[in-house]
Amino acid sequence: MDLSSLRSHNDRTVLGLVRSGAVSRASIAAEAGLTPQAVSKIVARLMAAGLLEEIGTVRGGGRGKPRTTLRLAAGGACAYGAYVDRDELRVVRLDLTGEVVSSAVVPLAPMFTPDDVLTALAPLVPVRDEVLGLGIAIAGPLTFPAGVVSPNGLPGWDCVPLRALAEDRLGLPVAVDKDTNAAVLAEAWRRPLRDAALVFAGTGLGVGLLLGGEVHRGGRSGAGEFGHTTIQLDGPLCVCGRRGCVEAVHAAASGAEAARVLGAAVRNLVQLLDLDQIVLSGRKVLAAPELYLEAMPEVDVSVSSSGSDLVPVGAGLLVLGELF
Ligand SMILES: [Zn+2]
Repeated sequence: MDLSSLRSHNDRTVLGLVRSGAVSRASIAAEAGLTPQAVSKIVARLMAAGLLEEIGTVRGGGRGKPRTTLRLAAGGACAYGAYVDRDELRVVRLDLTGEVVSSAVVPLAPMFTPDDVLTALAPLVPVRDEVLGLGIAIAGPLTFPAGVVSPNGLPGWDCVPLRALAEDRLGLPVAVDKDTNAAVLAEAWRRPLRDAALVFAGTGLGVGLLLGGEVHRGGRSGAGEFGHTTIQLDGPLCVCGRRGCVEAVHAAASGAEAARVLGAAVRNLVQLLDLDQIVLSGRKVLAAPELYLEAMPEVDVSVSSSGSDLVPVGAGLLVLGELF
């Protein structure tokens, strides 16, 4: 599907209002400050594109004709999200509301190459008219939005133009971002977050930062490399080549001690940025959530409810987010 014709400000306003619950053409017109004629035209275009659908009528109070109710077309357009982890590839298909329709996971062999990833992705991401695009999440560092990646912990991946390679190979629009940014996007899609860090302890360790309600990527897309800040001088060697990084010290510990290392590092982060919410995720946290919750500083701390789909869902939201 060609989204370029649907990226006008008014289209996004109307889709955003329907997502947040303004469900008739009249209420959309009132909230958006548009004429009813303009809203009718926009709605017709969005329905033709498979983004909106009518679900029946509600009768207004007393006089006046019944109003047709609109919603995001759950069975219409969709987006794919993929998480290239250090040992597996997770792919989800999202409907327009961001709900997971289907998911798949395939193992990735040690020393896998960019071509191996694209070969694994191709059968999982069909090119059809209703597919808006694919978001790919992967470890940093990388450049956003160019999608040139040099992920820590993946030997041989140096300045790989992953976005361009994937668009060529798969034949659809692709967005690429860090796994941790995708994770915080997914969390913020489901509930209000403002100054928050999503701490992701999986095969690597990093944070997605939401500052003032926006994903904070930094001047060179490098923000959030929390796992590679130093917590122990002369500590264990890290995949990044330095010593004593939070990621390496955390990986060398286990159980309550690992949680304590992460807790100390998160306390530094909260001090530095005055965060009021911390969300924990990643397979290490999900394996022992109570231990990690106990070790965290005294702010609003929770474990993400999205489980192992969090990052691929956030990757898909890189595509869906363009609509709203
Ligand atoms: Zn490191």
